[in-house]
Amino acid sequence: MTISGNPEITLYNNPLPKGCELCRLGSKLVVFISGECGDSCYYCPVSSERFNKDKMFANEMEVKDLMDYIYESYRMNALGAGITGGDPILALDKVTELIGMFKEEFGESFHIHLYTSGRYVTNDVLKELVGVGLDEIRFHPLKEEYKEAIRKALKYDLDVGIEIPSIPGEGERTVELVKWAKKEGVKFVNLNELELNERNFFQLNSRGMKVAHGITGAKGSYENARKVVEEFREDKEITVHYCSSVYKDVVETRTRFLRTIRFSSKAYEGFTGEGTVVRAILKGKVDDLTYGEKIGNDLYSFYPEVIDELVSKYDVSEVKIVEEHPDSRRLKVSERLIYSKSQQAGYSS
Ligand code: SF4
Repeated sequence: MTISGNPEITLYNNPLPKGCELCRLGSKLVVFISGECGDSCYYCPVSSERFNKDKMFANEMEVKDLMDYIYESYRMNALGAGITGGDPILALDKVTELIGMFKEEFGESFHIHLYTSGRYVTNDVLKELVGVGLDEIRFHPLKEEYKEAIRKALKYDLDVGIEIPSIPGEGERTVELVKWAKKEGVKFVNLNELELNERNFFQLNSRGMKVAHGITGAKGSYENARKVVEEFREDKEITVHYCSSVYKDVVETRTRFLRTIRFSSKAYEGFTGEGTVVRAILKGKVDDLTYGEKIGNDLYSFYPEVIDELVSKYDVSEVKIVEEHPDSRRLKVSERLIYSKSQQAGYSS
């Protein structure tokens, strides 16, 4: 058996869990259900804006209502959702209601996985989650006693996995965890590249960890994960899967953006290979809306390629090219003035 993948992105010894497969297609909605968590890991990747706060996000967008998750799923034509936090079990009512809504709206095949430390997972919790249709559960057993929840989950009709950060210097401990997981019948162990962010930066730096891969990946995290994947390269019983910070930062977000563009951008919007939308914002008076629409008083949004023609034909005072994220927030990446009648500016591309 060989190791599949690419060290920059992912490495794995066996087929990936279904939740990861769908994530690679950019087709999983990321549900951040609440930042509340009873633990406080020094490496916690959750941002200050979210950690221990009762806030909800659909992908990168803050939402106030569970229906917003349904709307966002439609925008990207999601094939499933991954529920995370904090510890989602602390928001169990919301989680079960939302899983029920997903299954009702999109059918049983809409794949749902959930992350938890396991701290609050009891048989009653598992019965509720399985009852509403949860497909896959991933544990982060940061304390020995949390492993008991994994044993419990293995008795239910669920795919059970472990997902932990790959901590430099903890290779042997990780190998022991994978061996334990295999013996218990756990399907997969995901090792995430440890990431530095604005909240855990000092904690990780004080332990000698610095960024060495991509924008956020900690030095030694990849090497640690690679050794563990190699240790199990011939093993057919358990999937060991390394997922890099570059994958999460660049590939996952980009494929999700490209998917959102495919299913919900407007016909007159252009797009880039990075998964951003490009359009021309034009001020003036234009009669022909074949390649655009009116978005305000004397304000239009147009396909960028038709701007030359519109400027020559109509009374146009200003044209800007804007690049935005394709999701509902329409976060602006850049804005360029390419034509101004008052400044007699020509085009600049
Ligand atoms: S259990 Fe997860 S969310 Fe909670 S502190 Fe640890 S890493 Fe952060």
